[in-house]
Amino acid sequence: MHELVGALRSYAWGSRTALAQLCGRPVPSAHPEAELWFGAHPADPAQVRVNGRTESLLELVASDPQRQLGAVAPEFGGRLPFLLKILAAEEPLSLQAHPSADQARAGFERENLQHVPLDSPMRNYRDDSHKPELIVALSRFEALAGFREPRRTVALLRALEVPELTPYAELLAAQPDSSGLRTLFTTWITLPQAMLASILPKVLDGCVHYLADGHSDSAADEFTPEMRTVLELAEAYPGDAGVLAVLLLNRITLEPGQGLFLDAGNLHAYLHGVGVEIMANSDNVLRGGLTPKHVDVPELLRVLDFEPLELPIVKPEPVGEYSFRYRTPATEFALRRFELDAGAAPTSIPRTGPGILLCTDGSVRLLQGSDELRITPGGAAWISAADINIRAQALGGPAQLFCACVGGQ
Ligand SMILES: [Zn+2]
Repeated sequence: MHELVGALRSYAWGSRTALAQLCGRPVPSAHPEAELWFGAHPADPAQVRVNGRTESLLELVASDPQRQLGAVAPEFGGRLPFLLKILAAEEPLSLQAHPSADQARAGFERENLQHVPLDSPMRNYRDDSHKPELIVALSRFEALAGFREPRRTVALLRALEVPELTPYAELLAAQPDSSGLRTLFTTWITLPQAMLASILPKVLDGCVHYLADGHSDSAADEFTPEMRTVLELAEAYPGDAGVLAVLLLNRITLEPGQGLFLDAGNLHAYLHGVGVEIMANSDNVLRGGLTPKHVDVPELLRVLDFEPLELPIVKPEPVGEYSFRYRTPATEFALRRFELDAGAAPTSIPRTGPGILLCTDGSVRLLQGSDELRITPGGAAWISAADINIRAQALGGPAQLFCACVGGQ
């Protein structure tokens, strides 16, 4: 059991207050702080404190995968299979999806054969892994994820009262399934710039009118968050086809503690909020817009899953007295949240293989035999597979702790 220091990532969409506040640093921070990475990703590994010196977790794992990862080492090629983050979105992230395992393997090989450098901004596939991801909200968390049930989308398009949208609404009404969604999304995301420039302002006017009308019956108000989001995205990314495309997506608000699971092919965009995110250790992102980064629409269209999706919210399942499990099909990771009571006896932290413990509230004492480690919000511990009987206890007041480990338990 060793202290683990996260790697802070600064992206334009990050927050100057959220991560600094959580970690107890002065606000505002000098740069927008987007993500704090706890993992062994080659791009930015976390640092382990061992006997007073600091070492990268990537090197520690590589130096002795058998001891650090235990029995799961061969299955994941001697690498830590997950990456844990705290994410703080002040501004929306790009409209994106992640490939399946097969698509990632094929895409990685294809771009290698085309000699696209691994660090090129044009590169879609930076590794050969899929990237299922789960985010658990720490604050209220706003996102777009998965295609909305098509009949509701038809209702939304009609509610905009924009004549130019009528043919599209009719197209989807005539084929309210994944084929209709594929046709409509493909049409919109590839719309010629001139047509986009003519239709987008009308859609935005439609949103403004919808919001200004102050509908008296609640049913007519049902798309208020959707319309607001379209206007916000259009302001940040004027003229972007992604603004039209988000009319087709579920608009989701997670309450603190709720999770959102994104499997391969699920089109999504995080909008605002702070959360703990865990994913397979991969960087494979296909973007469709709402970003200054590399966008590859044809490749995105190849990996997208157009099946309409119920809201992909993962409810926390209570397990025992203090812990909540987030059930997903991922084999690379599993995530549990512990709400530790002040004054309670140390509780044991079950896990499969290696683990990372991350404190997000209060102060936590971790115990292993006679060893003790204290962590506060933004602080973490690396637990190798060889470390057994780890227990945790809140110090001074209630505390929140996340435990990331390998999936399949
Ligand atoms: Zn994503």
